[in-house]
Amino acid sequence: MTKYIFVTGGVVSSLGKGLTSAAIGWMLERMGLRISMQKLDPYINVDPGTMSPFQHGEVYVTDDGTETDLDLGHYERFTHAILTKDSNYTTGKIYRTVIQKERRGDYLGRTVQVIPHITDEIKSAIHKGATGTPDVAITEIGGTVGDIESLPFLEAIRQFSLEVGHENCLFIHLTLLPYLRASGEMKTKPTQQSVGKLREIGIQPNILICRTEQPMTEEMAAKISLFCNVPKQAVVEERDVDFSIYEVPMNLMKAKLHTQILTRLGLEARQEPNVDDWLEMLDRVKNPRQTIEIAVAGKYIELHDAYKSIYESLEHAGNHFAARVELRKVSAEQVAGEGPDELLGGIDGMVVPGGFGERGFEGKIAAIHYARSRGIPFLGICYGMQAAVVEYARNVLGITDAITSEYGTDAANPVISLMEEQKAVSDLGGTMRLGAFDCRLQDGTRAQRAYGTTMISERHRHRYEFNNAYRSRLQEAGLVLSGINPKLDLVEIVEVPDHPWFVGVQFHPEFKTRPLKPHPLFRDFIAAAMKRGAQRT
Ligand code: GLN
Repeated sequence: MTKYIFVTGGVVSSLGKGLTSAAIGWMLERMGLRISMQKLDPYINVDPGTMSPFQHGEVYVTDDGTETDLDLGHYERFTHAILTKDSNYTTGKIYRTVIQKERRGDYLGRTVQVIPHITDEIKSAIHKGATGTPDVAITEIGGTVGDIESLPFLEAIRQFSLEVGHENCLFIHLTLLPYLRASGEMKTKPTQQSVGKLREIGIQPNILICRTEQPMTEEMAAKISLFCNVPKQAVVEERDVDFSIYEVPMNLMKAKLHTQILTRLGLEARQEPNVDDWLEMLDRVKNPRQTIEIAVAGKYIELHDAYKSIYESLEHAGNHFAARVELRKVSAEQVAGEGPDELLGGIDGMVVPGGFGERGFEGKIAAIHYARSRGIPFLGICYGMQAAVVEYARNVLGITDAITSEYGTDAANPVISLMEEQKAVSDLGGTMRLGAFDCRLQDGTRAQRAYGTTMISERHRHRYEFNNAYRSRLQEAGLVLSGINPKLDLVEIVEVPDHPWFVGVQFHPEFKTRPLKPHPLFRDFIAAAMKRGAQRT
């Protein structure tokens, strides 16, 4: 029988609920339990696919092609939970289903209301999220307790626990203990009020995880326990980490969160948690043997969350070699304006990430030209790969007006163009080429050497493609097309052979990396950057 954990957040947003939920999943798996992970998002967009990265950060894509919240990236990086379209529901997605049912007449003439119809739909989503009858299904509720829009979700999980039995559900509330520098103390009042809000709805949290800057004292825990009606040993500290987010699960384990969870759910560990590999990884993080500087030249560099998975992938690959990766976030637009020399001088490697639209595209081309002509290890992802093809067509093949048709629809030389099936698409939401596709690698290429296999599967999110009309000319000019989609005959990977490491991929390798198993392309890219770094110093 499946047990359920609900993670809510209080006091402020951006507390790291996603990370904490993922860390909970991690510790349960380490004890031999099978888990599922899900996020419920109270906003009205059906999915984050149409939201600007500035609004929402990265859109994370699952194998089945669902565009989801970036917290699902944490879930996949920390756990083995299988994520699908049932792993992320928004208010919009819930309401859409209810309204479709209403239009079909499924409600048999009844008035359709938030309670019970919306809450029923949310409960059904929670059941669907618990795929494969795991031992524990973890559901994170987005937003902050007290928001108007989270109310139906909180009401639904209250009802849910009544239906599956209180002994089978655990409410974990993540909260903040702000530190007031002036008076030198940590404050518990916001936590008390946030728990008060939950209790108003009828939810008594079982465990409180308290984000702190400073150590939480025994007295503090006792006070929170008394005011919030939570046993003292279930008031758990989650202090800010020094080096890496991958310290979080270890710290929570040290604070005995895992035993609290097991006791309260009446579960037993199937094995002693073995964390040696994780500790070794953290040891490499804390004791790097080399530092390299990687430029990420993109459009959304002001917001760290916009390229979350890429930054994580770089960190994983660096950790693998005990190399510290310093990020140099470079605005592509600025490169176009000021030229690359100043902005990109002294780097050991360059990533040009995905993106959309005209702004910054010429800057990406200039940055890529800089990396290609100076032998700087380069990894281009999605729009970054498309820009690399344009750059090659212009500067090597001599098609000076080469462009992507995303930029100019009536261009003479669209070396990147809209896929046939995309031409009729009018809605923007959920209509790109999405999810996992196979790709065949050509022997002897960098890509093939990195993966060590011939057939791979990677995740996509784009409308435009390498235009096959230019394939042979680009190949004759020396561009290696090292990965091809066998079914659709689409170019998925390009490489420049007479270069230390230059690879562009149409897919998003950053969605399939793990802290203990970096993605092969990121791994080899970082290895090449380390080589350059060592030569440079
Ligand atoms: N804008 C490009 C396209 O739609 C690339 C998308 C991306 O980088 N994710 O094809």
